[in-house]
Amino acid sequence: MTKRSQLEQHDQQIVSCRKCPRLVEWREEVARVKRKAYKDQEYWGRPVPGFGDPKARVLVVGLAPGAHGSNRTGRQFTGDASGNFLYPALYKAGYTNQPTSESRSDGLVLQDMYITASGRCAPPDNKPSPEELNQCQSYLERELEIIDPKVIVCLGRIAFERILKIYSVRNPVYKFAHGASYPLENGKWVLCSYHPSQQNTSTKKLTVEMFDTIWVKAGELSKRN
Ligand code: SF4
Repeated sequence: MTKRSQLEQHDQQIVSCRKCPRLVEWREEVARVKRKAYKDQEYWGRPVPGFGDPKARVLVVGLAPGAHGSNRTGRQFTGDASGNFLYPALYKAGYTNQPTSESRSDGLVLQDMYITASGRCAPPDNKPSPEELNQCQSYLERELEIIDPKVIVCLGRIAFERILKIYSVRNPVYKFAHGASYPLENGKWVLCSYHPSQQNTSTKKLTVEMFDTIWVKAGELSKRN
């Protein structure tokens, strides 16, 4: 079975998941009530699978869907402020065919990159509980197994801690810091970045220049032997 068909099978499992009652209720409630600006759109309202190049050397891990972003559009970082900051940077670095990401049918293609998240359902206040993230972990583990990336870029501390947990890393030297990278098993690397949330970008905690360095570094690490 090709990596693509393994991922398609995996995605079907993800989108039908109802393991976390609080999140099922929230994601569906948001999809029912909608934000005024999107009242004519049909919200996705389900878990959001990963997407991208099945043979990617770079895998990006975010936190969880935004209520009116990917919970609305059904694709990672699509239709919200975080995505509006992320995709121009990825385009500049050569990972996408276009700088925008608005809907599942907008023609966006990822090259040598796969984008996924620690949690697949939109959480209230953008905060999944540790138990919910634990419930969801097996989906990320399976993607890592299928794709077998060389570099894992963690957008935010929560994604970084999840990756350390998955790879059973307990080394105190592995600390979250923007731009920090550490070796994992089998020649893999984990690379940390601040999350491109509006809170971080509007306060300049994360600038365009700081974000650009992440994708240059990811490219360098992905080509290392
Ligand atoms: S967060 Fe993950 S485990 Fe929980 S319901 Fe959504 S997809 Fe399932």
